[in-house]
Parts: sequence; structure tokens; C-alpha cells
Amino acid sequence: MDSDTENHPSIDGNQTMKPPPSSPRVVIVGAGFGGMQTAQSLTKSGADVLLIDRNNYNTFVPLLYQVAAAQIEPESIAYPLRTVLRRATKTQFMMADVKQVDFDHQLIETDSAVIPYDYLVLATGSQTQFLGVPGATDYAFPLRTLDQAIALRNHILQRFEQAVREPDFGRRQQLLTFVIVGGGPTGVEMAGTLVELRHSLRRDYPDLDWQAMQDD
Ligand SMILES: Cc1cc2nc3c(=O)[nH]c(=O)nc-3n(C[C@H](O)[C@H](O)[C@H](O)COP(=O)(O)OP(=O)(O)OC[C@H]3O[C@@H](n4cnc5c(N)ncnc54)[C@H](O)[C@@H]3O)c2cc1C
Repeated sequence: MDSDTENHPSIDGNQTMKPPPSSPRVVIVGAGFGGMQTAQSLTKSGADVLLIDRNNYNTFVPLLYQVAAAQIEPESIAYPLRTVLRRATKTQFMMADVKQVDFDHQLIETDSAVIPYDYLVLATGSQTQFLGVPGATDYAFPLRTLDQAIALRNHILQRFEQAVREPDFGRRQQLLTFVIVGGGPTGVEMAGTLVELRHSLRRDYPDLDWQAMQDD
């Protein structure tokens, strides 16, 4: 075998196969449902894929309400991205917060690096909308990310701890009153889970006056 053929394996014995052109680089920002599905679809495309997310896990958002109501542990709805992508050899992951995109020069500016791309997929999701409900922006707990679900869970459990020490009935009732803004699927699921939480916490707080927490 001569050295040229060794470097460029022959197709039919006469023609020498040229080295493949360098693969296009696809950068996907956001490893949520959309970003992950895109990365998965590109696995066999031959493209070099770089998936960027500010978290190194993918969140199964539909079950956030169960984390918020202390029904399941946060880890059970957070999938480590590097583990998920282990077998996708041409897909890399980078944990970074994307700050800006320079479309003219095809560059992504993150909090830690500037990354060039050939093709860009922006899959950064959505933001919580309070739709003008008075006070909601300032006082409500949004339920959109895992961190927010954990913050809400901690807040709810803290209220139980405070209520069990609170001698005043009126104040106790206030501490155990939860208002849900939004009656869509998540709001309804959250309401149902709070009722279930009340049942499951009865044994942990036997001294609590459960009349103070009623369904309205
Ligand atoms: C509480 C709740 C319950 C839901 N339940 C259902 C359901 O039961 N069924 C259903 O079909 N849909 C449900 N949805 C809607 C569904 O979750 C969304 O439609 C879906 O997640 C949208 O996918 P996405 O990829 O566009 O965004 P997301 O899944 O939100 O992913 C966006 C990703 O981008 C990352 N990101 C954002 N900005 C940056 C940045 N600047 N730099 C780096 N990374 C960034 C985020 O960390 C995140 O990982 C629910 C939504 C919520 C909030």
C-alpha cells in the first residue's frame, strides 16, 4: 500500500477518496425539550453539534409542581446532560450562560467564551408571564425552573414550621393560606398536590391545628 492510498483509502482501486470536508458546526442554545430533540435529530447528520445550556441538566418541566409540593426529589426530574449525550460522539456539551449573539460574524458570546457557529439553533424557552395580575410579579413564586420549584417547596415547608409555633389562630391561618395565580394545568395540579401535601404532613405536624388550612 503506497503512502497516498494509506492516507486516502481507495474507493474502487483507481479513484482516491478525498478527505471529507470539515463538518459544519451547529450550535444549539438551550437543552430543554426543543434543544435536546434537535441535538438528537442531528446525531447522524455528520455535523459537529455543540449544545449550550446554563445548567448541566435537562429538566422534565411537567413535573415541577411535584417538586414544589415536596412530593418528589428534584433529582428525579433532572437528567445530567453529559450522561444523556455520552453516546453521541459528535455532540458536545458546554455549560455556559449565553449573553449575546453576533449574527453578522456568527459568534455566540457566553459568560465564559466566544463561540463561532455555522448554523445556530436558539431554543432558550420562554419566560413566566404574570399577565397583569396585581402583586403577582412582586410577590408570587414563579414555577418555570427547577431552582424555582425548590424555592417554592422550601417556602411552603417553612410556613408549616412557622405555623406550628404560632399561637395566634389568625396568623396561623395566614401562614397556611396558599394562593395560586393561574388556573391552567400547572395551577390545577399544584392545587391538588397541596391538598395531598396536607394529608401527608398531618403525621409530621401532629400539634398543628389542621382546621387552619382549608380548601377554598
Ligand atoms: C410548570 C410547567 C408545566 C408544563 N407542563 C407541560 C406538559 O405537561 N406537557 C407539555 O407538553 N408541555 C408542558 N409545559 C410546556 C413545556 O415545558 C414547554 O413547552 C417546553 O419546555 C418548551 O421547550 P423549549 O425547549 O422551548 O424550552 P425549555 O424546555 O424551557 O428549555 C430552555 C432551555 O434553555 C436554557 N436557557 C435559557 N436561556 C439561556 C441562556 N441565556 N443561556 C444558556 N441556556 C439558556 C434553559 O436553561 C433551558 O434548559 C409545561 C411548562 C411549565 C412551565
